[in-house]
Amino acid sequence: MQVTAVRQVECPQCGARRSISIPSDDVELKPGRSDAAFDERRRVTCSNGHAYWIQVR
Ligand SMILES: [Zn+2]
Repeated sequence: MQVTAVRQVECPQCGARRSISIPSDDVELKPGRSDAAFDERRRVTCSNGHAYWIQVR
């Protein structure tokens, strides 16, 4: 998959920011659902150890 953009996301539990790579700059990022299609989400682990999904579409 080609990566063309990097976005900052915020942990919903503690607010720590992380950068994630996304396939396009023209997407909406929102807290993800674990049942979303795999290529439409990113699993993020923040610096405090919280894991969450970001939906990318
Ligand atoms: Zn966190």
